[in-house]
Amino acid sequence: MDMRDVEHYTLPNIRTIQDCEREFPGIITISHYDTYDRFDDLYYKVYFAICACIEIPECASFPIKFKFYPEDEKTFELSMPKFLLNLNAWRPLIELNQLQKYYHHKIEVLDESFIIGTMMNNQSRTALESKVMKILNDYGIQFERISELLKDVIERYQEASIEFAMSDRHAIMTYESVFLKDYLTNEKIRELNNLKIPQSLQTADVEELLQKKTTELLTAFGETKNPIWYVSKAGNHIKPKQVQELFISYGQIPDVSGNVIPYTMQGNGFSTGYVDAASYYIAASGARLSAIMNKTHMGEAGYLSRNLILASRTMTLSKTTFDCGTKHLLSLTVTDSTFLHRLENKWYCEHEGEPLQLIHYEDCKHLIGKRILIRSLLTCAGGDEVCHVCYGADAHLVMNMPGMAIFNTEVYSKPVSQNILSTKHLLYTAANRIGFSKSFDKYFKYNAGDIYLKEKDEVAENAFDGHLSIRIEEGNVIPVNANDMAEYNTFGNNVESPFFIYNSKTKEYEKIEILNYESMFIDAESMKSFKLIEDKREGKQYYEISFSTLSSDLEGRLLSVDIKNNGLTDNLYTIMNLLNKNVAKYDDISKLAQDFFEILIHAGISCRHVQAEVILNRLIRDAHDLYSRPDFTKLEMPEYKIINLNQAIMNYKGATLGTSYQELKRQLLGDALYTEKKGQSYLDPMYAQQIRTDHLKELAEKYRKKREEEQNGTESHTEEH
Ligand SMILES: [Zn+2]
Repeated sequence: MDMRDVEHYTLPNIRTIQDCEREFPGIITISHYDTYDRFDDLYYKVYFAICACIEIPECASFPIKFKFYPEDEKTFELSMPKFLLNLNAWRPLIELNQLQKYYHHKIEVLDESFIIGTMMNNQSRTALESKVMKILNDYGIQFERISELLKDVIERYQEASIEFAMSDRHAIMTYESVFLKDYLTNEKIRELNNLKIPQSLQTADVEELLQKKTTELLTAFGETKNPIWYVSKAGNHIKPKQVQELFISYGQIPDVSGNVIPYTMQGNGFSTGYVDAASYYIAASGARLSAIMNKTHMGEAGYLSRNLILASRTMTLSKTTFDCGTKHLLSLTVTDSTFLHRLENKWYCEHEGEPLQLIHYEDCKHLIGKRILIRSLLTCAGGDEVCHVCYGADAHLVMNMPGMAIFNTEVYSKPVSQNILSTKHLLYTAANRIGFSKSFDKYFKYNAGDIYLKEKDEVAENAFDGHLSIRIEEGNVIPVNANDMAEYNTFGNNVESPFFIYNSKTKEYEKIEILNYESMFIDAESMKSFKLIEDKREGKQYYEISFSTLSSDLEGRLLSVDIKNNGLTDNLYTIMNLLNKNVAKYDDISKLAQDFFEILIHAGISCRHVQAEVILNRLIRDAHDLYSRPDFTKLEMPEYKIINLNQAIMNYKGATLGTSYQELKRQLLGDALYTEKKGQSYLDPMYAQQIRTDHLKELAEKYRKKREEEQNGTESHTEEH
C-alpha cells in the first residue's frame, strides 16, 4: 500500500486494552498474508493502531499473538511496535511464494530465530535483514530483486521511526523531557552535568575521562528512560561524542594544522554554552576547520573512490571456476582478535601441505598471535576472475551480485569520504599520550599545553634558593627559522627532550624526559632569560635558567608542548598513499596484505580482509607482462610486480578503462593502444564493454611503412646530390 492511497484513512479509536483486543482478536497466522497487498494490509493495520494509541503505554505495549504457519503449535506474542518492526523485516520473504509451484513440499522458512523480542537496534536489525537476504539468495532470487525489496524494508523502518517520534509526545525533545527533569531528580546526572575538567590533564587523559563519563551518563539515561537513551540505542542518530558535548563537556578539539588545541573548553551545550572567551574562540576556529577540511580533502577522497571503483570493476567472481587450484597461499600474522574476526570464513592452514579449514572466530582463537597461511585473492590463479575457494565461504553472498568487486571496495572507500563529509567527526581528538619521566613530576606540572615549574610549596624545600637550574644542551635548542638573518632569532626555538636539572652544590645533573610530543617550543622573548654557559668538566654548552629566574621572570612557564592529533584525514592519507604510491615499494605480497589490513583496522574501517584483498588482487601483476595477473598455477612462485592504483587502471587490456584515467594524449598515441588493449572492461556503464582495436594495428602498420618510405626517399634524394 502506498501511503498516498491512505490519505483519508481514519485512525481506529484505541484508548483501552479492550479496544486493542477488538482490533487484534485471536492469533494472527503470518503465512496467510501471502501476497504483498495482503501483507501490507496487516502491516498498516498495526501501523495505524500504533499511531492511534502511542501515548497510552498499556495499549502500545498490547501483546499481539501470532504464529508463522497454520500447523504451528507454538504461538508468540510481541508488543505492537516490536511486532511491526519484525513484520517489516519478514516482508521480502513473500517473494518465495512465487517459487512454490516448483516445489513439492511447502516452503516454510520462518521460525523463532526470526523474532527480535528486544528493543531493535541497528545491529540486530541488520542481522535480521542479512538472515532474510541469505534465504532469498539461497533460493536463487536475483540480486536486483533482493535489493529492491530491501530498499522497501529500510524505507519503512525510516517511515515508522519518523512517524512514531512525531506521534509520541514523549519522543519530542523538549528542554524538560530531555534533561531538566533528570537533572533535578537524578543526582548522578546532575553530577555529570556539572563536571569540571582540570586544565592539568593532558589531552589523552581528557579523552579517556570524557569517554568514561559519557558511558556513565548514557547508562544513567537508560535508567531514567530519557529519550536520548532511546535515540542513541536506535542507530546512528546521535553519537556519544554529541551527548558528551551537549551534557558533559565540550572537551578539546584539533586545530587546522592537525595538532591539538590543548585547552579543555569550559562547560557544555545544554547548561552553560560557551562561557569563556577561550572556549568561544576555539569553537569558532573549529567551525571553520570543518569547512577547510571539506574543501581540502574531499576532492582527493572522491578521486580515490573513483579510481578504486574503476580498478575493481575489472575483476569478478568466477561463474565457472570453483577452485582455481593455486599453489600459493598468503602468509599472515593474526595480530589480535579483530584481525581474526576479519578473517571469518576464509580457508586456512597452519603449515604448508595441511588440509584447508574454514576460519570461524569462536573455534580459532588459538590462532591469535600465530602466523598462518590463507587462500587469498592475492594469489588466486583465476586471472581477472577469482575463484570461490580463494574468496572463502562468503562467496555465496556476492555470487549473484553484478559488480561485487565494486561493492567490496566501497566498503572501505566510502567510510573515508563520509567521515570527511561529516563535519562533526572532524572535531574529535585522538591524541598521542605524552610521557613524563618520574623526575618530571618532582619539579614540573602540565597545564593546558604548557610546562610550568611547580609552585614553591609544591616542591622540596630549598629548591628555589638558587642552587637549582634548568639546563638544555645547546644542540637540543633549534631555532625555528635557522636562516633568519636577524641578530637573534625572532621566532623562538624548538626544544628536544631531554633536558636537565643542574644542582650547583653537588654538580649533579638530573635528567628530565618528555616522550611522544609533536614539538616543544620556547618563544623568543622567553629565550632571552636563558644564558648560554659551558660546563668545563663535560666540555658541553648548555642554555641555562635558574629556578628563581624562571619563576619570577617567566611566571614559571618553561615551554609549550604541541600534541599530535591522529585525525581521520591521517588515516585517509595513509590509505591513499599506500594505494597510489607506496604499494609499488613492496616486493612481498604477504607484507603488503598484512600492512593494508592493519591500516584499515587502525583507521576504524569495518570490513572483512577479503574485501581489502579485492583491490590488492588488481595491483599484483606478472613481472614480464604488466597487463596480466601472475600465473599462480605453477608450483614455483611466479615473478610478480606490485603496481599502484593509477598504473593498474592504465595497464589494463580494456581500451576504455585506461582512457578514463588521465594522460589521454599519451595513451592514445602510445603503442599499447593497438598492441595490448584488446580486452574488455568488466561492466562499464559509460562505454561499450569492448572496443575493436585491430584496425588501429593496420593503420599503425600503414603509417610506419609510409614513414619508412619517406625516409628512404629523402636519403636517396640526398645521395643524388
Ligand atoms: Zn583462486
